[in-house]
Amino acid sequence: MSNHEAINEAILEIKDLSVAYGTAKGDVLAVQDMNLRVLPNEIMGLIGESGSGKSTLAYAVMRLLKGSARVVKGSVRILGKDIYAMDKEELRQFRWANISMVFQSAMNALNPVLTVETQIVDTILNHRPQLSRREAREKAHELADLVRIDRSRITSYPHELSGGMRQRIVIAIAISLEPSLVIMDEPTTALDVVVQRSILDQIKEIQQRVQFSVLFISHDFSLVSHLASRIAIMYAGRVVEVTEARSLMDAKVAHHPYTEGLWRAIPKLTAKSVALEGIVGTPPDLLHPPSGCAFHPRCRYTFEPCRTVRPQLQDVEGSEIACHRFVPEGIQHGQ
Ligand code: SF4
Repeated sequence: MSNHEAINEAILEIKDLSVAYGTAKGDVLAVQDMNLRVLPNEIMGLIGESGSGKSTLAYAVMRLLKGSARVVKGSVRILGKDIYAMDKEELRQFRWANISMVFQSAMNALNPVLTVETQIVDTILNHRPQLSRREAREKAHELADLVRIDRSRITSYPHELSGGMRQRIVIAIAISLEPSLVIMDEPTTALDVVVQRSILDQIKEIQQRVQFSVLFISHDFSLVSHLASRIAIMYAGRVVEVTEARSLMDAKVAHHPYTEGLWRAIPKLTAKSVALEGIVGTPPDLLHPPSGCAFHPRCRYTFEPCRTVRPQLQDVEGSEIACHRFVPEGIQHGQ
């Protein structure tokens, strides 16, 4: 039985998490009061524009924050364990075996002077020293099959492989220790659209075969809605909505105005009557965030409380939405 079959709780539980970057002008809160749960074997999407805090969140969850970035409050639990309460050795053993990450650029994640086979084998042996090199190599070959790379190609160096193949190798390394959670941070951004789709289909197929949870981070709403079952939408360091991906296709389901704007900006093959629109304005300067709802300078529905009162996430028709338009009885304002 795998780790995540043994528990009924969330694989990842983020509670009241805030992350700040220290700057000469003061702290910038890149992630604020974040609450998020990723359930066993689900693919959760995390969407936001550049600067919304989504990559900072990924690094905070991995406890890989660098430079002036630091967690100022809150907790991150993976498989029920507080990752910030672990000592260095415990963290080293826990990370990659239970939680792994696929970074944006495969080329940066791979060592250019080692063959990809050596890199997969070394990762396995680092955490499973009881295995022989031959057994680890056999496992590397099985992983190559899983990500559909011909076994003969894994003795190549990274530069001898295409961008799509390199990203598949990084995914193979990420799942080599059968983690319960894989964080994927814009894993296909550098690839062309056709290769992107093929890798996404593979991620879905592998995730269903091997059974693990994915937190898939992207600025590309159409990509995430294709892959994830639930989606969290971030704006200015906060989650403004958590919703079922399929609810986005249903025009009758209410969403946060920012979600609505992102969704309207995607070309749809079936939509004949919906005009495409972008969201006016630019994301806020986090050193001087807007008062009240941070989205109010760009929102088409802004009304009186939006400029002064920060909305909290609340249940709205099966989603969680942070917007004053929604009160328990339904939409009442700003129509
Ligand atoms: Fe728009 Fe107000 Fe809702 Fe913010 S709280 S998204 S400004 S309607």
